[in-house]
Amino acid sequence: MDSDAQDHKQTDKQPGVAAGLDTKSTKVFPCPQCKKALQRKEGKRGVFWACSGFPHCKVTCNDKDGKPATRDDESFRCPVCTRPLVRAPKERGDYWFCSGYSKGCKITLADVRGVPEKAWRCRECGSLLQKRKGKHGEFWGCSQYPECKTSYRDKDNRPEF
Ligand SMILES: [Zn+2]
Ligand SMILES: [Zn+2]
Ligand SMILES: [Zn+2]
Repeated sequence: MDSDAQDHKQTDKQPGVAAGLDTKSTKVFPCPQCKKALQRKEGKRGVFWACSGFPHCKVTCNDKDGKPATRDDESFRCPVCTRPLVRAPKERGDYWFCSGYSKGCKITLADVRGVPEKAWRCRECGSLLQKRKGKHGEFWGCSQYPECKTSYRDKDNRPEF
């Protein structure tokens, strides 16, 4: 009958699309420098975040999963594969490891006052050195081991060239 057809038309309506966006836009991310809110912008090279204090504050952040990437995300990258470095959980000690660990990059860097230690390179092949524990204490071995067997003694937490 006629009334049945009417009901179907009503439910065919598309649900609102904007519903999911609201929760995201209400969250405020403060500028790391002046604490004003960061604003999401779309530039030529993609989405980024700019400080609402512009032009007085020129802070910008890259976008990462819909959030402004923090300074740490930006500046600490694996010197070998350029993936971001991740700080190890406190209980595991003070060091940073490559976020590509599961993909085969075993780079770790010691933590020095909240930043990853400067990477040291093998004088023979230019690859990164890694601090290792051996029979005779800690030493620095080439990350290309066993292809490159170069190693250096540890002196004050850095390789002795
Ligand atoms: Zn700012
Ligand atoms: Zn890496
Ligand atoms: Zn080497």
